[in-house]
Amino acid sequence: MDCIFCGIVAGTIPATVVKRSDEAMAFRDTDPKAPEHVLIIPTRHVPAVRNARGAEGEELLGRLMQFTATVASELGLDIDGYRIVTNTGPDAGQSVEHLHLHVLGGRKLGWPPG
Ligand code: 5GP
Ligand code: ZN
Repeated sequence: MDCIFCGIVAGTIPATVVKRSDEAMAFRDTDPKAPEHVLIIPTRHVPAVRNARGAEGEELLGRLMQFTATVASELGLDIDGYRIVTNTGPDAGQSVEHLHLHVLGGRKLGWPPG
């Protein structure tokens, strides 16, 4: 399968890894949109949140969100805050078809997003 993020999990594509477990991985976005911009992915290939429904998805997304909150805390973002974003499908501009949560922080973030 030709998936950039599966390549990062496998170690065949380099990345600046922030944290990893058996089921999740956090690494820095190569085109950061904020001073802190980290991507959180499941190590298992899941295309997007639309593919993570039902009981299995409930566990996957719950654990992924817990992992994300831990990463954000370890990055020192708890006090000033941060945003978690997941783009799904063409209208949202999803460009990598492996589920990922963006953690954005380190500056004031505008709302609503474009
Ligand atoms: P999306 O547009 O799908 O919501 O987010 C994909 C993100 O992946 C983008 O912010 C983009 O900069 C990032 N990205 C794309 N290719 C790579 C890569 O090879 N390595 C890393 N670390 N980030 C990537
Ligand atoms: Zn993948």
